[in-house]
Amino acid sequence: MEHKVIALPKLNNLSPTMESTALKLMEEAGELAQAIGKFRGLSGEKTTLIEEEEVMRMITRELLDVAQTAVSMMYVLEEYYHIDIGIMLEEHIQKLMDKGYLK
Ligand SMILES: [Mg+2]
Repeated sequence: MEHKVIALPKLNNLSPTMESTALKLMEEAGELAQAIGKFRGLSGEKTTLIEEEEVMRMITRELLDVAQTAVSMMYVLEEYYHIDIGIMLEEHIQKLMDKGYLK
């Protein structure tokens, strides 16, 4: 099984809650959709190859924002709601296997 391991920090200069991180996650998902829309030329502009590279970097930045916010929400669930992300992660992997997405 191939893995992509990304370590993202616990933000220590914010006081996130479940609601604030959930809203932020949706906001960042919207920014990601906006960046992809730009790549697809939904603005009607024709893009050059260099612009395309920049748009791909923009998409990646927004994707990392989504990942950071998801991780921040995991910290909130652990700290305030006593969720064990390690156990939940095992359950998640098992679900993917059960659905046939992993073998
Ligand atoms: Mg963003």
